[in-house]
Amino acid sequence: MLDPRSGTYESPYRPEDVRVPAASLDGMRALAAAGYPLVLASNQPAAAKATVGLVALQAVHGRLVEILDAAGVVLAGSRYCHHHPRGIVAALSGPCACRKPEPGLILAAAAELGLAPARSWMVGDSDTDIEAGRRAGCRTILVENPASAPRRQGGSRPDGVAADLAAAAALIILSSG
Ligand SMILES: [Zn+2]
Repeated sequence: MLDPRSGTYESPYRPEDVRVPAASLDGMRALAAAGYPLVLASNQPAAAKATVGLVALQAVHGRLVEILDAAGVVLAGSRYCHHHPRGIVAALSGPCACRKPEPGLILAAAAELGLAPARSWMVGDSDTDIEAGRRAGCRTILVENPASAPRRQGGSRPDGVAADLAAAAALIILSSG
């Protein structure tokens, strides 16, 4: 969503602000039907910056799961980095191994679920998503969501580029067939 304070695209902080585009739901359903477990890996530094609390972010995640569930989409795992290198909440501030472009979220999820990164795909709409996927050893697809264009500087080298998650899913399924 567009943050009126910063004028930039931000993750939602309230459950009622969570939206999942139809193309994203379509893409996730297609991947699940093709046998791919779906894992969410997200930087959520708002709590480290004291913008919102962790409880509020958990409510946002709960709403996301509700929307996915209603659409018949089940996540095999979900991992968030709540840290920020220059946060103001001490317990969540400073360097960490999980904030993308670090690969920690992906590697931890792969270990937990017994997934091989080399046979997995990281799909994201920012350069840091692509870099995290590369460092984890995944193949990568950059989704060119217009709303998050500032998060792409053109320096990432994804294995594929797609307009939305449905198109990304089609690429993945084509590559695995
Ligand atoms: Zn972290």
